[in-house]
Amino acid sequence: MSYEVYELDDELNPSLKDASSFAEATADKEERLVTPKKIEDTEEKSIEISLRPQNLTEFVGQNHIKEPLLISIEAAKKRQEPIEHILLYGNPGLGKTTLANIIAKEMGVNIKVTAGPALERVSDLAAILSNLSEGDILFIDEIHRINKTVEEILYSAMEDYALDIIIGKGPTARTLRMPLEKFTLIGATTKLNLLSSPLRDRFGHVFHLNFYEDSDIEKIINRNAKLLEVEIKNDADKTIAVRSRKTPRIANRLLKRVRDYAQVKHNGIIDNEIARSALEMLNVDEYGLDEIDRKILHFIIDNFAGGPVGLNTLSSAIAEEMDTVETIYEPFLLQIGMLERTPRGRKATSKAYAHLGKKMPKQQSELM
Ligand code: ADP
Repeated sequence: MSYEVYELDDELNPSLKDASSFAEATADKEERLVTPKKIEDTEEKSIEISLRPQNLTEFVGQNHIKEPLLISIEAAKKRQEPIEHILLYGNPGLGKTTLANIIAKEMGVNIKVTAGPALERVSDLAAILSNLSEGDILFIDEIHRINKTVEEILYSAMEDYALDIIIGKGPTARTLRMPLEKFTLIGATTKLNLLSSPLRDRFGHVFHLNFYEDSDIEKIINRNAKLLEVEIKNDADKTIAVRSRKTPRIANRLLKRVRDYAQVKHNGIIDNEIARSALEMLNVDEYGLDEIDRKILHFIIDNFAGGPVGLNTLSSAIAEEMDTVETIYEPFLLQIGMLERTPRGRKATSKAYAHLGKKMPKQQSELM
């Protein structure tokens, strides 16, 4: 279900003042443990690489994608042709990059990885495309951030395996067509709605990665505990899984932090008690919410009687771009039913009130 969200006029809203003082209180949030985005440090990088599933069997969950994908891979291999262009969309940390690498492995081809913002000029993309061999995969992460002129070059590359380059300017300009090897483009995006339809229509498959079931996150945690050579027992896997925000990247990060805690404070074995006290120390509650999530909910409940609150106000309250609030904070709070998006803004739900131990105003609870 989707609809336009009309925001309340934040300019007229006296609580914006509250928002900026609230922002000051939430300023120290740089190393957010439960962010679904990659944390750019070498430790996270090496953990991600070492725990990354290598084939579709190891890739847990997302069966609605794996099954059609397997068929396409087999069919393409039989025809000895590259697989059709694939668009993967979904929240950060759900496995888009992992899937692209697996597809390349299963097809037995090379993969070249880049990202939308890195392709600033037509020549950046032209250089990459002209270096691909037959069947190779080009993975473009954050493809919605590619600039318009570069995007237009992709159209003929995807459709006709040719580069149409315009040489010169004005009336003397002419188009030069350069043939390319047949390749597969895998695009990844967190924001399908920001993709233009000509680009979207050129993908043969469009797959949506869902948030994971807790049972799938448990499987990932158990597999990765083995790879990290750490023993995990009596429901500690469940304890970590429910706090992982249905996201494998966060599950891996929490597992690693709990392992460190078990090694320092205990005998290295992760049991339920150790997992609980580690996560408590790390300030991740039983829904996987951290300080900032709870502050967002408190802000809506305490300053706006539960909402609705405009995205603008909410963003200034936590000193973040609206885009970050929409892609990073909101999706999970919506997913677990703590937040609701209404045409007039965001509202805290009865579940949020209960979680924070607050009483919902009568009028509100009757409306829910
Ligand atoms: P995205 O590209 O969507 O941001 P990644 O593919 O980089 O996410 O995944 C982040 C990490 O989560 C990977 O390093 C991988 O170890 C793990 N992961 C993602 N999806 C799965 C899965 N289905 N099964 C097991 N591990 C996964």
